[in-house]
Amino acid sequence: MSERDAEMTVTVLGSGTSTGVPEYRCLCDTCQDARNNGSRNARTRPSIHVEIEGRFLQFDTGPNFLEQIDRNGIERIDSVIYTHCHADHISGTNDLVMPCRKQDMDMPIYGPDETMRVMQKNFDYMFSRDTYQGGGVAHLIPHSFSGRFEIDGLEVVPIPVLHGAVDTQGYRVGSLGYVPDVKVMPEASLALMEGVELLIIDGLSFNSRHPTHLCVAESIEISNSLDSPTTYLTHLAHRIDHRNFKEQCDQQNVDLPEHVELAFDGMKITV
Ligand SMILES: [Zn+2]
Ligand SMILES: [Zn+2]
Ligand SMILES: [Zn+2]
Repeated sequence: MSERDAEMTVTVLGSGTSTGVPEYRCLCDTCQDARNNGSRNARTRPSIHVEIEGRFLQFDTGPNFLEQIDRNGIERIDSVIYTHCHADHISGTNDLVMPCRKQDMDMPIYGPDETMRVMQKNFDYMFSRDTYQGGGVAHLIPHSFSGRFEIDGLEVVPIPVLHGAVDTQGYRVGSLGYVPDVKVMPEASLALMEGVELLIIDGLSFNSRHPTHLCVAESIEISNSLDSPTTYLTHLAHRIDHRNFKEQCDQQNVDLPEHVELAFDGMKITV
């Protein structure tokens, strides 16, 4: 069986934007709903976990990381792959101590050079065995890359994207494309995503003028141009509402195709 055909289970650990939803002290209708138990509008910071052929890949470790892996019953983490160094994607890194302790291992991490530099600065005590003293501290093993790389024989394809001033990557693993933070997808990057069957992509809001994130219409356009893979929008801000998303799209004159839906925390997709 080729990698492309390998069965993969993707768990959406977090589908929210950097503020999380509900937004602190926001009384909008969506945030109020998000405060109800079990609401799909309750969104933690963006992250996914991918299980493919006995390998367990974690994408980003934001501030909700530890609760996310516990709540979703994530059994194992073999490597962490970082999209970029914004706080909503890296600030839970210290909590890798629990998976490392349970698995009795150091944690290989992958990401853009800039992200590795910021991580070394923010979490310097996790990078050196001199300061690594058990008790609440895990040891990280950084890996940089230029272009595609392999983790335990599995090919990972970085997808360079524009997301403000920060060096940012999406990733392709087999038939999955994961691009949580993006404003502009260069043509060459789009080409790297050709043939994906599952796309999880930034769909922050309906605001097309946001400087660093796609709006829903732009995300749909990208999905359509990739031959309409099953697509889930993520990194969702508080105004996007699961209860009436179709109507919201109608109001915004956005044509919502059947292959595009909203992601939600705890969603599991098998491809
Ligand atoms: Zn709100
Ligand atoms: Zn970001
Ligand atoms: Zn983000």
